[in-house]
Amino acid sequence: MAKEIILGIDLGTTNSVVSIIENNNPKVLENPNGKRTTPSVVAFKNNETIIGENAKRQLETNPDSIASIKRLMGSASTIKANQKEYKPEEISAMILSYMKDYAEKKIGSPVKKAVITVPAYFDNAQREATKNAGIIAGLDVVRIINEPTAAALAFGLDKSKDENHRILVFDLGGGTFDVSILEMENGTFEVLSTSGDNHLGGDDWDNKIVEWLIKEINAKYDFNPRNDKMAMARLKEEAERAKIALSESMVANISLPFLAMNANGPINVELELKRSEFEAMTTDLLERTKKPLMDALEQAKLSWNDITEVLLVGGSTRMPIVQELVAKITGKKPNKSINPDEVVSVGAAIQGAILAGDIQDVLLLDVTPLTLGIVVEGDIVAPLIPRNTTIPVTRSQIFSTAADNQTSVSIVVTQGERQMAHDNKFLGRFDLSGIAPAPRGVPQIEVSFSIDVNGITKVTAKDKKTNQEQSITIQNTSALSKEDVEKMVQEAELNREADKKKRREVELTVRAEQIIHQIDKSIESDEAKKLDESQLASIKKEKEEIQKLIEDKNFDELEKKINEFEQKLAQAMEFMKNQQPTPNQDNQDSKDNETN
Ligand code: AMP
Repeated sequence: MAKEIILGIDLGTTNSVVSIIENNNPKVLENPNGKRTTPSVVAFKNNETIIGENAKRQLETNPDSIASIKRLMGSASTIKANQKEYKPEEISAMILSYMKDYAEKKIGSPVKKAVITVPAYFDNAQREATKNAGIIAGLDVVRIINEPTAAALAFGLDKSKDENHRILVFDLGGGTFDVSILEMENGTFEVLSTSGDNHLGGDDWDNKIVEWLIKEINAKYDFNPRNDKMAMARLKEEAERAKIALSESMVANISLPFLAMNANGPINVELELKRSEFEAMTTDLLERTKKPLMDALEQAKLSWNDITEVLLVGGSTRMPIVQELVAKITGKKPNKSINPDEVVSVGAAIQGAILAGDIQDVLLLDVTPLTLGIVVEGDIVAPLIPRNTTIPVTRSQIFSTAADNQTSVSIVVTQGERQMAHDNKFLGRFDLSGIAPAPRGVPQIEVSFSIDVNGITKVTAKDKKTNQEQSITIQNTSALSKEDVEKMVQEAELNREADKKKRREVELTVRAEQIIHQIDKSIESDEAKKLDESQLASIKKEKEEIQKLIEDKNFDELEKKINEFEQKLAQAMEFMKNQQPTPNQDNQDSKDNETN
């Protein structure tokens, strides 16, 4: 008997699936239409929210319908529908809530907890948004796991624990393509590499048929359906149907009765599409799956001989030509024992059962999909965690200052494989202030990255001398409510201003102290002997005024004073330069560095 039920949810770009583990067996739950997969589509009509199959049917005709919301997860975009603006996570939450409801009806009792899967290439923001979607739907998201890892978990459960495997997961869904190589050793999974194309999927194959249909209909029936929304919706639906039929048979009949009216009456489209024709028109799409496959193998530092299992995931892997290509490249017969539409959700349910303590002895390791690093001088990235590093992981590295007496550094975190920071994805930034002033290169600033089991990253920077520490955390504890999430965001906002203020104060104090130090040094110098009493007194007065402003923490005045002093100093320097017949350029430069 299960201790507690945890839903395993595959929240897909095209379709979503929910499973549970019942009496040690995975069970895919059916939606109210009796289907095991639910289209990830939301539509609004007459103030009613429609999810799934019925929403999908309205996609082309109802402007208030939304598909592929997963592509926007983690972005700041909003979606206008139903006379409102929705965040991507709110739309995803509607799908999750629908699934939670029908799961509860099937199970016969309320369920709170869920494991939700995300693509391996999802970054922090996308994972957070997915988690928040769960929270909005009233779910306690106990874990976010990578889709290929879930698939491998579903696959590995049936395997004997003394067998070791290197598994290639080839996941071609409706809108995305993912390749992963995993290692399963003594019941432990490790993802060795990931690759893919997040804009390649079954929809592209459908669109090829749609384009072909438009041409054929134009030629044979002298009608252009392109501007007819209703006709286009039917073309799209029929194209997918024909594609699916061609996975089983060599010819598909395309029938679109009453597609439109023309002068001669209704247009009844009757066409035939051969599998060979379909395969010929989609060769370029198939070609696009090759490179990610090779990349994943190369990154895993393996050869095809090392791969022991090839696992097909995603509905589009049902196309025979896809299976043939995978078999040809890998030299292995792909394993089709698990339903490709359901395997990810089943894996998530298994992960749920592991967390609930129903299944033991399976450890799950994931990898970072992209390199994480920070920006150093000259907009260059210093990588801290290379892509495909197994998580959870913590890595640190020592950095230093770029200028003399630098008292604060900005830690800018990026994600991506490019050398220049601006080419990569910006993840976040924060300031570490209060570094003890020292010549450039002397301070030791330790920057640490830790990634937890959910793939969520925390970055900390610490000045080893002062122990000043600052960090960014993207909250990931499992018991977060929607209110908690909002509070976190507000707190981050609040601290940002306080940190900025603090940084300014520290910087001003340090700059002022540098000036005092400079004054003291110049009073004691040989040059000072040439000054008369009144000149000396005026310099000392200047120093006292600055000291007083520091003591009073009067930072606005202090800033003014410092700027005035630096201006005067610059003028004095200029004056001296003009007095001297041959100024020494090198000396001048080093003096500039000291005052900066
Ligand atoms: P998924 O996102 O894994 O549910 O995959 C959805 C995609 O798989 C859609 O583009 C479907 O049209 C496609 N699909 C489902 N069944 C088949 C099939 N038998 N043959 C070809 N494509 C299929």
